[in-house]
Amino acid sequence: MADPKGFLTTPRQDWPRRPVGERVRDWNEIHVPGALLPIVGAQADRCMDCGIPFCHDACPLGNLIPDWNDLVARDDWWAAAERLHATNNFPEFTGRLCPAPCEAGCVLAINQPAVTIKNVECAIADRAWEEGFAGPAPPDRLSGRTVAVIGSGPTGLAAAQQLTRAGHTVAVYERDDRIGGLMRYGIPEFKMEKRHLERRIGQMRAEGTKFRTSTTVGRDVDAVGLRARYDAVVIATGATAWRDLAVPGRELSGVHQAMEYLPLANRVCEGDLEASPLSAAGRDVVIVGGGDTGSDCLGTAVREGAASVTQLDIYDRPGDERDEVTEPWPTYPKLYRLSASHEEAGALRTAPEAAEDSDARLFAASTLRLTGDADGRVRALHLVEVDAERRPRPGTERVLPAGLVLLALGFFGPDRGDGLVAGLGLELEPRGTIARDAGFATNVPGVFAAGDAARGQSLIVWAIAEGRAVAAAVDRHLTDGTTRLPAPIGPYDRPMRA
Ligand SMILES: Cc1cc2nc3c(=O)[nH]c(=O)nc-3n(C[C@H](O)[C@H](O)[C@H](O)COP(=O)(O)OP(=O)(O)OC[C@H]3O[C@@H](n4cnc5c(N)ncnc54)[C@H](O)[C@@H]3O)c2cc1C
Ligand code: SF4
Repeated sequence: MADPKGFLTTPRQDWPRRPVGERVRDWNEIHVPGALLPIVGAQADRCMDCGIPFCHDACPLGNLIPDWNDLVARDDWWAAAERLHATNNFPEFTGRLCPAPCEAGCVLAINQPAVTIKNVECAIADRAWEEGFAGPAPPDRLSGRTVAVIGSGPTGLAAAQQLTRAGHTVAVYERDDRIGGLMRYGIPEFKMEKRHLERRIGQMRAEGTKFRTSTTVGRDVDAVGLRARYDAVVIATGATAWRDLAVPGRELSGVHQAMEYLPLANRVCEGDLEASPLSAAGRDVVIVGGGDTGSDCLGTAVREGAASVTQLDIYDRPGDERDEVTEPWPTYPKLYRLSASHEEAGALRTAPEAAEDSDARLFAASTLRLTGDADGRVRALHLVEVDAERRPRPGTERVLPAGLVLLALGFFGPDRGDGLVAGLGLELEPRGTIARDAGFATNVPGVFAAGDAARGQSLIVWAIAEGRAVAAAVDRHLTDGTTRLPAPIGPYDRPMRA
């Protein structure tokens, strides 16, 4: 470490967010542009070089965090970028979107605020792009083997990039009109501007990866025929089959799944639509589901000009401090967290019932029924408070005004309606995900599965990690062990500069 006393003398400082009143008027990222670089060197220098870096183990990618903290503190950005890209294909995605389990495992976090690892990662990635350290790395020669990757989310992209760089000829099939999976249609622009995605796709095209959009495998392209045409197939189709809400009134108009609502807002940002047909403008919005998807609906509804927004969470409000008995360091604790969207809820006239928490959330709240008007449009949501066993607390029924109800209750596995799973005869786990062995192989020879489709609903960081791991498995399958995959650890054997 450049300054052995950095962690004693420098307090934690996060990348500042733009003022709420400013950012809810646009769709740009929430952080102050240009405000990270001036502070990040001193923040990286808070890393203690503790010797046994639990952060490294807590990161699903095994990112070499202490190494690049030290390199940033010493102002060696080129080497930091090289070290970061050695384990993470898309650090500008995780640097913006990851919940940072690494920071929960930071040794400094035992008794002080953790190192701002995620911010350091983002700064390295952004600077690598600005200074040309992240150019394309095409293979020196081709293997003559071909791979079809189905799905272009972070799993499919990471798998495709690794396999292309190893010399295989890779085509990515995507049913949507644009590449990116949930990072394109799902995650709002204010969390990650799509230009970051475009830049990586450009890099991948330059390396030789082919993309086929608006092509649903199993419907537009026969799945068995595709398997026959390629030497291996990677299924990375995500877990987009959503959970529903089985209550009276679910059929009313104005009740939608989060993933019916969010992609339309994405399309407005892409310039495909002038306004979303499901816009929250002027409506009382109730979001059922306390997770991150619900929080994304909240930030979107605020920007669309909702009259009020309330988010219901069936669980009790988590505590502010780690429970040292049930969730000791270095585990990732369930804490009360205020996302940027929750911060923004105060910009609205929130429903009076949500006033107990200024962030628009109602905890321990279970939906009883929805009621509507004579036209069949939803008007109110009836709820009751529940205890930890989800038993209703007598006398706690309430009614919230609701002109738009958004369901954000999670996902249970890949879509089955497109003919891919049935067409290939893929076995499923009881919970609906694609069954695979420890080497990512499904029951169909030469067909591998990774990411949310096989693991269940998860995170970008896990998707990239699975994409890299399935690529290694496919490469072993194609090459009998003589791999030319980029080294998982340590510097590349060629400079990354374009
Ligand atoms: C609203 C929302 C917000 C989220 N926010 C975050 C966040 O901030 N941070 C985080 O870490 N995680 C977040 N997640 C989770 C994260 O997005 C997922 O874990 C991740 O995208 C999974 O990657 P994947 O590549 O496995 O699947 P996906 O990203 O779902 O991509 C799968 C792709 O496969 C395509 N596809 C499906 N079937 C076919 C077919 N038959 N033929 C061709 N293509 C097909 C789909 O169209 C899709 O593009 C969020 C999820 C949601 C829903
Ligand atoms: S990918 Fe996530 S867990 Fe890994 S270093 Fe980055 S922020 Fe931490």
